[in-house]
Amino acid sequence: MNRDHFIELATPEAVRSVAEKAEKAARLLREAARDYAPVVFANSFGAEDMVLTDLIWGRGAEGPDIGIFSLDTGRLPAETYALIASTERHYGRRLEVFYPERSSVEAFVGSHGINGFYDSVEARKACCHARKVEPLKRALDGKKAWVTGLRAAQSPTREALKPVTFDATFGLVKLNPLADWSEHDVWIYLHEKRVPYNALHDHDYPSIGCAPCTRAVRPGEDIRAGRWWWESPATKECGLHVVEGRLQRAVPASVKVSRGDTPTSRKVAA
Ligand code: SF4
Repeated sequence: MNRDHFIELATPEAVRSVAEKAEKAARLLREAARDYAPVVFANSFGAEDMVLTDLIWGRGAEGPDIGIFSLDTGRLPAETYALIASTERHYGRRLEVFYPERSSVEAFVGSHGINGFYDSVEARKACCHARKVEPLKRALDGKKAWVTGLRAAQSPTREALKPVTFDATFGLVKLNPLADWSEHDVWIYLHEKRVPYNALHDHDYPSIGCAPCTRAVRPGEDIRAGRWWWESPATKECGLHVVEGRLQRAVPASVKVSRGDTPTSRKVAA
């Protein structure tokens, strides 16, 4: 089902339900900004991230005090750069952009070749580490919490996702305000609020990353089938959201959890 079908099938009840979910997500963001400051949002400009951008920047002075940054891997599609520019114009704000260390990229290319990420999972993960994970570490340095647009329904590796978790890799709270949103919910929100989105979504790209590692999906395929399509579903994460081979740890008992979280998000994963 494509984006237009989601919008065509949006009933008044569905629109109301999305508005309620949006208020719940906005409340989580407000409380996180109050309880975990400084909080940042890692924006990769997918459809989910545009919902979060609107919840943070689209509410004027009432919006939560959460900084927005993005990682420019150097291999993003032209459509994503266009969306970054149009988003800044739409909200009249400038986001912070982090880049990979030049020496890390040069070392990867020198050893694996310009498109060496196709050759093995290890090489692909090394490229993601240089272009995404290391810059993300710098972006998160000194922060207490970060916000992502992850949804539980996006892939088999994300099905246990909770709204609030503890990210042991980066040592800070990780907030997933859209954990319980469906793809349908996301498109209803973007349509109702007239939020800009990536033009590739109109060409069967439900999930968008770097240009050489993303393709359109075919009818009936999983929405993340177009990401690293040459790999098995179980390996399809970039290292930003996996801890020791598992998706997440839930929040340790010592970390305060905001209202609206599920009770189970307080349990530490076995
Ligand atoms: S998604 Fe592809 S090009 Fe982008 S960092 Fe990962 S391997 Fe490299």
